[in-house]
Amino acid sequence: MAKLCPCGSTLSYPDCCGMIIGRKKEAATPLELMKSRYVAFTMANADYLMSSQHSKTRRVKESKQIKKWAESVQWMGLVILNTRKGEETDDIGYVEFRAMYLEAGQIQQIHERSLFERENGKWVYVSGVHL
Ligand SMILES: [Zn+2]
Repeated sequence: MAKLCPCGSTLSYPDCCGMIIGRKKEAATPLELMKSRYVAFTMANADYLMSSQHSKTRRVKESKQIKKWAESVQWMGLVILNTRKGEETDDIGYVEFRAMYLEAGQIQQIHERSLFERENGKWVYVSGVHL
């Protein structure tokens, strides 16, 4: 049996976020994009994290640092707390989530409300507010 996708779904990675990360499918909603970005963090896939971020906030120079950090921690799970907008007729959407990870033996969490926008018709991550 294939391992379940780290985003917390009941599908295997190739059938779930792997479709979006592998560019076989576009994220239909900010939530799908958010999940794929969490999974990319668990795989330290900085290239995908860069390409799924809006060009106006993307900092390519930080790519190596992000990769190094993502590799240094142990990802423990993602909890989606809330979503707003992000429907087919919207140009923006919000996802509030909690992501847990183990860093230097301590459980840490990111509690963030992320803003997503469409860029060239595709959902991309813009920025986040830590809560
Ligand atoms: Zn997934």
